[in-house]
Amino acid sequence: MSFELPKLPYDYNALEPHIDARTMEIHHSKHHNAYVTNLNAAIVGTDAENLSIEEICKQISKYPMPVRNNGGGHYNHSLFWSILGINNGANPTGKLMDAINADLGGMDKLKEDFNKAATTRFGSGWAWLCVENGKLKICSTPNQDNPLMDVVTECNGTPILALDVWEHAYYLNYQNRRPDYITSFWNVINWDEVSRRYEAAI
Ligand code: MN
Repeated sequence: MSFELPKLPYDYNALEPHIDARTMEIHHSKHHNAYVTNLNAAIVGTDAENLSIEEICKQISKYPMPVRNNGGGHYNHSLFWSILGINNGANPTGKLMDAINADLGGMDKLKEDFNKAATTRFGSGWAWLCVENGKLKICSTPNQDNPLMDVVTECNGTPILALDVWEHAYYLNYQNRRPDYITSFWNVINWDEVSRRYEAAI
């Protein structure tokens, strides 16, 4: 079995003006596509050919670096695309909102702490909201690592929200202004999908 580039559930221009169409097109059709191609090449003839991408991440210490980098790249971007969508300023509701209040101190504190994790990640990486031992937790990881990976020490759990802070994710529109890209992210989170992932993870 080989992995495939997932289709986006919206058009490349669906997230404008917050994330521009050209960035989305290059990010999906070039960057993510390369992770999929390189992952498939890296797992030929190994037991990873029969595993899901989540299963590969959970035992990533068994595999060489190309599987870690490209497998992480495939998992992370697939999650990222799924949780994006124009939200018109809406906040989460239901059990997810209750958990944000109980575990993280509310929506304002979530944004403050997540923005800090995303802003202070030096170089390339990701910021995460994940479920660890039943509780929400914010963290960041370098490169294409993620909280599923057994080699990751920053956090270990199920990611439900992800922000790519590699320069390729924002440089065309925001140049070096990563904080502006991070601020805009809150306008393009599909909270229904994040809630669905939260309820599946607890
Ligand atoms: Mn990326």
